[in-house]
Order: sequence, then structure tokens, then C-alpha cells
Amino acid sequence: MPCLFCKIAAGEIPSVKIYEDDAVLAFLDIAPVEKGHTLIISKRVHSEALIETPPDVLAEMTAAAKKIGAAMLKAGWGGFNVVQNNYPDGGQAVPHIHLHIIPRAKGRKTPLAWRSGSAAYADDAERDAIAASIRACL
Ligand code: 5GP
Ligand code: ZN
Repeated sequence: MPCLFCKIAAGEIPSVKIYEDDAVLAFLDIAPVEKGHTLIISKRVHSEALIETPPDVLAEMTAAAKKIGAAMLKAGWGGFNVVQNNYPDGGQAVPHIHLHIIPRAKGRKTPLAWRSGSAAYADDAERDAIAASIRACL
């Protein structure tokens, strides 16, 4: 079994567990962007990214995200982010689908590190053409 997260799911590599049920395992990220940064993986399937992952598996992961997010709020954080990277070009380092649940401190209004508006369209025609090019591939 070459996949790092399959090994963590199988207990072959230790992790700090946050939550586990028959379908998913949630554990602390080894290099957190915030203290409490948690990863959720499926224990049932190995798949690389979102589009290879069956909807029922995504539903199980999302159900766990709700539980963990609620727990973070109850534990005193003010909010949290759910992040899911796809493929190396999308920032995905581990090719086993996972959700990042990143707790955020109360009152801090932490933005995700992106620059809002940095990719402004040249004009409405370019905007509409890009929208159409995505719709054409649905
Ligand atoms: P990605 O960039 O693929 O969305 O995120 C992968 C995450 O997995 C990273 O945040 C990284 O810190 C975490 N990670 C990588 N290897 C390990 C490991 O062996 N154990 C744990 N707990 N986290 C890991
Ligand atoms: Zn895997």
C-alpha cells in the first residue's frame, strides 16, 4: 500500500486522531496552518481528488466536516475554513482526497491567503467567454 493517507487510515502510520467512524478518519495535520488544523480522509476508498471520488464518499466526508466544525465552535473557536486542494497544480501534495478543516480564532476574521480581485478580467467579453468555455464542457 504505497499511499501515505491509506497507511494512516489503516493505522500503519500513527496520527493524532480527532474523530473516527466506519467511513472516515479525522486527524491533525502534521504541519498546521492553525493550531487544530484537521484533515478528514475516507477509510473506505482511495481516490486522488474530487472528481474521482464517489458522491456517497464525499457525503461521508462532509458529514464528518460538519461534526468537526461544530466541535471546533463548541471548543471556543469563532469559525473555520473547509479547504480541498485538487492535483499538484491546485496545491495538492498528498494524492489521496482529504478535507482540511482549519479552525479560526474568535474575533480575528482571518482571511484565507488569497488576493481578492487579483485576477481581474480584461472586460466583460473575456469574462463571458471564460464562463462559456466552462459551461461548454459540462
Ligand atoms: P494537500 O496539500 O495535499 O492539500 O495537503 C496535505 C496535508 O497533509 C498537508 O497540510 C501536510 O502538512 C499534511 N501531511 C503530510 N504528511 C503528513 C503525515 O504524515 N501526517 C499528517 N498528520 N499530516 C501530513
Ligand atoms: Zn490512499
